[in-house]
Amino acid sequence: MLSYTPPLKDIQFVLFDLLQAPAVLNAYAPFAEVDRDLMQQVVEQAGRFAQEVLFPLNAAGDAGCRFENGAVHTPAGFADAYRQYREAGWPGLTCAPEDGGQGLPHVLNGVLLEMLNSANMGWTMYPGLLHGAYACLVQHGSAELKARYLPQIVSGEWAVTMGMTEPHAGSDLGLLRATATPAGDGSFRITGTKIFMSGGEQDMTDNLIHLVLARLPGAPAGTRGLSLFLAPKVLPDGARNAAHCIGIEHKMGLRGSATCAMQFDGATGWLIGEPNHGLNAMFAMMNTARLFVGSQGIGVAELAYQNALAYARERVQMKAVDRPASRQQETADPIVMHPAVQRLLMTQRAYIEGGRMLACWTGLTLDGARHHPDADMRHLMHEQLALITPIVKAMLTEQAFRGASQALQVFGGHGFISETGIEQTVRDIRVAMIYEGTNEIQAIDLLLRKILADGGERLQRFLAQVEQTATAEPAGSLASEAGTLLETTRSIRAVVQALLEASVNQPQTPYRIADEMLRLVGHCALAWLWLRAARIAEQMQEQDPVFYGGKRDTARYYFTYVFPEVQQLLGVVNACLRDGNSAALHADLSCDLTMSRAG
Ligand SMILES: Cc1cc2nc3c(=O)[nH]c(=O)nc-3n(C[C@H](O)[C@H](O)[C@H](O)COP(=O)(O)OP(=O)(O)OC[C@H]3O[C@@H](n4cnc5c(N)ncnc54)[C@H](O)[C@@H]3O)c2cc1C
Repeated sequence: MLSYTPPLKDIQFVLFDLLQAPAVLNAYAPFAEVDRDLMQQVVEQAGRFAQEVLFPLNAAGDAGCRFENGAVHTPAGFADAYRQYREAGWPGLTCAPEDGGQGLPHVLNGVLLEMLNSANMGWTMYPGLLHGAYACLVQHGSAELKARYLPQIVSGEWAVTMGMTEPHAGSDLGLLRATATPAGDGSFRITGTKIFMSGGEQDMTDNLIHLVLARLPGAPAGTRGLSLFLAPKVLPDGARNAAHCIGIEHKMGLRGSATCAMQFDGATGWLIGEPNHGLNAMFAMMNTARLFVGSQGIGVAELAYQNALAYARERVQMKAVDRPASRQQETADPIVMHPAVQRLLMTQRAYIEGGRMLACWTGLTLDGARHHPDADMRHLMHEQLALITPIVKAMLTEQAFRGASQALQVFGGHGFISETGIEQTVRDIRVAMIYEGTNEIQAIDLLLRKILADGGERLQRFLAQVEQTATAEPAGSLASEAGTLLETTRSIRAVVQALLEASVNQPQTPYRIADEMLRLVGHCALAWLWLRAARIAEQMQEQDPVFYGGKRDTARYYFTYVFPEVQQLLGVVNACLRDGNSAALHADLSCDLTMSRAG
């Protein structure tokens, strides 16, 4: 069986030592009173809830939900945990006080979500979309819709869902077919089948607020003809809306979360935002949801790592090459003493701790983008957020899957059988690379829309920050690592310039190397934060030599054994730039395989 301990010390390092979060936040009017004590208290209570209430339900929740006569039954204990979550006021942690929320900074919500996801990713899917829906309604909802639905969303009394995917339309939302016709009284009748709706039906809340994309009569084809509607399960007059769950999916993981097929048969809904601008409104939700998915990555990777480390300290196999005198008489050593196992563990740790720094920095940037007193700064922070969101979503989830697999490897054969529980982490986290826009779609979004679309300006600004850190004095003991980072940012600038030129005649090239580019920029972000972390750890080492020494050593590990991936990535990017659309890049994949390979 797995165990989970909230990583409070590391979270505190990131929030207080690295990011100086209270001082940053105090410059924003709504957070003028936020101090370290308050933040620490929130983090500790969140950790306690995750560990004591959610984690005990995680393994049993893997048995999944039941679908009977149109009703979904979530695993035992889920509904009660949700009641406790709501009563403790967690849903509205970062919502505005005028909407019934606590008005705390977003960076705290990110930390809360990381720990909830470590403890129970399946359960966390139910409240997971709340903040996205809140942002969407606040930014695009009518005054009437806000008055009718925001209070219950913020209190968590009613949960929200996202209705985009249809059987024939996943990544390509332009293919969506669901329709909405005006009812003549200001409402609309929504008709269509939506699939894969997380929490589309459940037994935890009395009402559900579905945010659904559909087409108005005569709407243009493609994404420009999509409008967004709010369709509740229970209508304001208490009647049941014509939106029903017609089945739940049987999945390889994340089984505690009900993934529902939903039939809308003329369901009543109300327009959010402007007609045919639904995708724009939905993006307010999706961007927040993408950060949520990034927090799933860190959360589940942390759970897997903690358990792999504990197992490696207990499991005894073979003699270590380097044995302390105290163990000379032992027949075998704990596997944590074997260099290969140390590598597995250190790689996980470097990504998890780096990912946590990146997620918290992103959370603080989100707070600044909303509340910085200077409008230009708010704009710049929005731009940064746009650049970094696909990286948080894609890189942290890909890494989490690799990390969970490495954790399983540490367990050997015992990891492959269900009893130890580590395999659940691999199965659960796999979907995070798929939903909320697959990781390939995130990479294309980053390279095409966020980097190349503005001639590389957003990226240049971000790299300038990284370079400023890399050239800052005193360099500390990681001076040569800072130099390596600087060389990498220069290479990325050169590659982006080459891509801008090449994409005129080779339009397919950016699409071919988008994944590599996402990891390249992602590594720069991680390296930037590791460099800052290492310098701080060195300054503070005397206060707690084990913790801060460990932090500096992990930074060194990251630079020595993880960051060099950038060389391989640059090699691939440059090869694709050179080869253009050479057949070696796709061979005969698009041909009829029976003809080309049958001989
Ligand atoms: C457990 C679960 C929960 C979900 N929850 C929700 C939810 O709450 N609401 C909701 O609306 N949806 C939800 N989804 C749906 C999810 O968002 C989609 O599965 C996802 O967007 C991918 O769509 P698809 O499955 O149709 O794959 P496809 O779009 O068919 O993609 C298949 C493969 O092709 C790749 N691909 C497709 N187009 C391109 C391209 N242009 N360039 C490069 N690669 C491409 C993809 O990356 C992927 O690898 C959920 C899915 C799952 C599994």
